[in-house]
Amino acid sequence: MLDILRRIVQEVSSATDISDALKVVVARIREAMRTEVCSVYLYDPESQRYVLMATEGLKQEAVGRVSLSPSQGLVGLVGSREEPINVDNAPEHPKFYFLSETGEDPFLSFLGVPIIHHKRLMGVMVVQQRDSRQFDQSEEAFLVTMSAQLAGVIAHAEATGNILEIPPSAEKKKKRTRFAGAPGSPGVGLGQAFVISPAADLSGVVDKPADSIEEEIERFEEALEAARREIRILGKKLSSELNPEEMALFDVYLNMLDDQALGAEVRARIVDGNWAQGALRQVVMQYVGHFQMMEDVYLRERATDIIDLGTRILAHLQGHDAAPEYEFPQDTILVSEELTPAMLGEVPADKLRGLVSVKGSSNSHVAILARAMGIPTVMGVVDVPYAQLHGLELIVDGYRGHIYSSPTDELREQYQSIYDEEQALQEDLEGLRNMPAETTDGHRIPLWVNTGLITDAVRSLERGAEGVGLYRTEVPFMMKDRFPSEVEQQQIYRQQLETFAPNPVTMRTLDVGGDKALTYFPINEANPFLGWRGIRVTLDHPEIFLLQVRAMIKASDGLNNLRIMLPMITSVGEVDDALHLVYRAHAEVLEEGYEVDMPQVGVMIEVPAAVYQIRELGSRVDFLSVGSNDLTQYLLAVDRNNPRVADLYQAFHPAVLSALKMIADTAREIGCPASVCGELAGNPLGAVLLMAMGYDMLSMNATNLPKVKSVLRGVSHAWAEELLQEVMKLESAQVIASTLQLSLEQAGFARIIGPVRT
Ligand code: PEP
Ligand code: MG
Repeated sequence: MLDILRRIVQEVSSATDISDALKVVVARIREAMRTEVCSVYLYDPESQRYVLMATEGLKQEAVGRVSLSPSQGLVGLVGSREEPINVDNAPEHPKFYFLSETGEDPFLSFLGVPIIHHKRLMGVMVVQQRDSRQFDQSEEAFLVTMSAQLAGVIAHAEATGNILEIPPSAEKKKKRTRFAGAPGSPGVGLGQAFVISPAADLSGVVDKPADSIEEEIERFEEALEAARREIRILGKKLSSELNPEEMALFDVYLNMLDDQALGAEVRARIVDGNWAQGALRQVVMQYVGHFQMMEDVYLRERATDIIDLGTRILAHLQGHDAAPEYEFPQDTILVSEELTPAMLGEVPADKLRGLVSVKGSSNSHVAILARAMGIPTVMGVVDVPYAQLHGLELIVDGYRGHIYSSPTDELREQYQSIYDEEQALQEDLEGLRNMPAETTDGHRIPLWVNTGLITDAVRSLERGAEGVGLYRTEVPFMMKDRFPSEVEQQQIYRQQLETFAPNPVTMRTLDVGGDKALTYFPINEANPFLGWRGIRVTLDHPEIFLLQVRAMIKASDGLNNLRIMLPMITSVGEVDDALHLVYRAHAEVLEEGYEVDMPQVGVMIEVPAAVYQIRELGSRVDFLSVGSNDLTQYLLAVDRNNPRVADLYQAFHPAVLSALKMIADTAREIGCPASVCGELAGNPLGAVLLMAMGYDMLSMNATNLPKVKSVLRGVSHAWAEELLQEVMKLESAQVIASTLQLSLEQAGFARIIGPVRT
């Protein structure tokens, strides 16, 4: 049974659309259960009816035409009861409803099971037989199992806008305009789609013997050099938008094109007798295959970079320019099957309103750059017929990961007003830049920023940040193809420290593992979030840790505004070991002749174990900083990146709030300053509570800082304390979130906090 099930699920998952998938399901189930009929009815929320979507055994003409209301027939009964119904003489059942269109009168046995996904009823699956007999327990169990598996597939198809054929007659009316992908970079963009395609197609290249090996090598060298030139030019075009650190990505590209890497391998294959195009395709495909097999999403994404480079070289081999001069519309939404950073460089920055990529995820380099540049982006819009979008009006919703083609006037107005509102709010908030975050009754709480890229730093200063509470050092590590050297790190850190001096900059030591991977340092584990992460990795590699800390300390020479923070601390032993290494690094730097202060060192509170050892941890270090993102994930046992359990990731869960309160209380008792640097601190609702709990500082992304400041300046500390007391008595995350929402709306902050957020 398990085998049949696995095969059906496999076949269904590879079907191209929902109606194909359902056809496979009904055919295979009928075969496996040896029944005469198998049908699937899906619930259409618009007509509020169960529509026959696929059948084997009933008349095919009935598909899409026949439907039942929830109060009609055994199908309706299965749906409303949300449990299986198994009867041996259906026509005798009081709920039996005769559907003449299906030609079903002679069928006596009926087994129907609901199709439910995440508590939502999607439809009903039915098997029928002419003779009167009761389907047995194992048959019922099989159908229930099948339906549970199918529910996920249907929900997925529905989410990507595939269920449009309900009923087929209405197909023309309901033009597919919304496509769902993943949020790549936040914001809303309105404009005209410009579809950009790679200049050549590598997969279409055939192998053939080289007429002259020397000539082929020469042709290849020229194409390689032309591609290098092109990457340099495209990189230069982006250089006003990006800083040297982000521009390093283009160096990674150039390194890949290096004579020693791709170049050498292609040359070897030409020497073996293949012509240049064929040799190039072979090498690129080999690299791509290698990357695509990797489990790590970030590494898998690197296949894109290789294809982009290969395609560029091929275009030159075929005698055309890989980056022709396009005429981009004034408000370009750039669309491609697979966007690359180089393509981004082709559009003048003042014309670019949004990005859409059919392939890729928020880990793609192009998404990382889009976030740095503040361009709304949607990635992985798999179902969009992207080539047909060219020239169409498009809306990109980078918050939700949706795009809309040819929007209605109403939708356009709606998005235009979100866009206008965002711009206006931003302008209003800019006025707060030099004002302190001080409540109406005089309580002052410093607001710092979280940074990774230097563009973040620039934006942060513009928004009035008083320091950096979390500099994620892994970001510059991710932009390279090897560990950055001590000197390279020193330069990068110096830039951060100088930008903010004399304000403090809190640098977190390398926090890789979990969902953050380095191409050149892969960590493959079954449970990465419970595995080799953060301080665990760097304590096992003191050479990496020492080098990084030395670079940080040297970078603070003459500035002395550095603070060092340790991620993923679970036990005091880890702090002792890390402190020992920090002292050693400091001593080594002094020995080299620097005269630099020992930086303050702090611990991140991200693991539940640390919550219960605040006293012990806090007495060892200069400050504590709560990483509420990880703390929430570990307290609630909910993977912060898993969409299936996203509803359960509740920032306002009473247990999370109790832990946060306990940390603040204990830290105050022992006189150790405590702050929060997770997303909660940047959520105006969260910030009010954290301030009331007694945190000494909040650190957040630069975008949210003015909003948080505006709210904190508009309330009194006494009011926030009362609100905290009230919500600490509540038992449910939802109730807490809506209480906070309502209270802040009533206090006049509806415009700033926007719609419900938990
Ligand atoms: C956190 O866990 O809250 C945090 C700030 O660190 P990161 O999001 O980088 O894991
Ligand atoms: Mg963390």
